[in-house]
Amino acid sequence: MALVDTKKMFKAAYKEGFAVGAFNVNNMEITQGIIAAIAEEKAPLILQISRGAREYASMSYLRAIIDVAVAENPDIPIVMHLDHGDTFETCKQCVDDGFTSVMVDASHSSFEENIATTKKVVDYAHARGVVVEAELGQLGGIEEDVVGVHSDDVMKHLTDPDQVVEFVGKTGCDSLAIAIGTSHGAYKFKSEPKLAFDVIEEVGRKLPGYPLVMHGSSSVLKEFKDLINKYGGKMPDAMGVPEEAIGRAVKMAICKVNIDTDLRMALTAKIRQVFCETPGEFDPRKYLGPGREAIKKMVKHKLHVLGCAGKAAACL
Ligand SMILES: [Zn+2]
Repeated sequence: MALVDTKKMFKAAYKEGFAVGAFNVNNMEITQGIIAAIAEEKAPLILQISRGAREYASMSYLRAIIDVAVAENPDIPIVMHLDHGDTFETCKQCVDDGFTSVMVDASHSSFEENIATTKKVVDYAHARGVVVEAELGQLGGIEEDVVGVHSDDVMKHLTDPDQVVEFVGKTGCDSLAIAIGTSHGAYKFKSEPKLAFDVIEEVGRKLPGYPLVMHGSSSVLKEFKDLINKYGGKMPDAMGVPEEAIGRAVKMAICKVNIDTDLRMALTAKIRQVFCETPGEFDPRKYLGPGREAIKKMVKHKLHVLGCAGKAAACL
């Protein structure tokens, strides 16, 4: 099967109360870890590429790796998605490069400018059979060059459900990332966060069947945080979104959940462990291999949290 877009996935996800995991890829090992997990769990998959990933690995290498993943897993629907396209030009480039889904993030502009930029991307993408995710409201935290509001202020910048109706109507975007109190990065919160489930519910009432997206939704798993801190790392205050909250959101209108920090931490934790336990080791396969295995295990676990394990066939 060739790469697919998100339409059937989101339809099934909305109907059956699960969300598709959107995992960020930057190199071969991360991609292989994710792919091994979805192949075993028979889950639909969104592989997402940020502008930083395009710069780091180059699009041609990432595309070649993803092409192999697609060819080797004919029963699994896989989407290649641009994460946080900041301008029309970036989104256009990705549509031209064969992405099946792009995100345009003009959420830092005014409401009117956000509509105008998003609409321009939607017109270009839809004419070429590519779906578009947009963003309304402002998330907290920092991820690559995406700087959000201060984590103390996330609850003041939630998405307004009334604006969602107008925004989706005027832009025609296929899915929407909303601000419900989540935050990018590993230092999302100082205390146990509360997500604004009422916003999800309200949008669900106003736009029944419309797929919503949760960004900044890594959980900062204790297992990896502890390993990092034990083996010379310093992430004592890292805190993410509790998995129970994610499990609740995916039963509502949330159809896509973005996960990057948890991948980074799994890989980093294992590499640190190998370096500390066997300081003489210098074969990259001996530390990247365990890192890849940790990613696989972590992603398998996430697929169950999101409820999308076993749902590949439902998305075809
Ligand atoms: Zn994001």
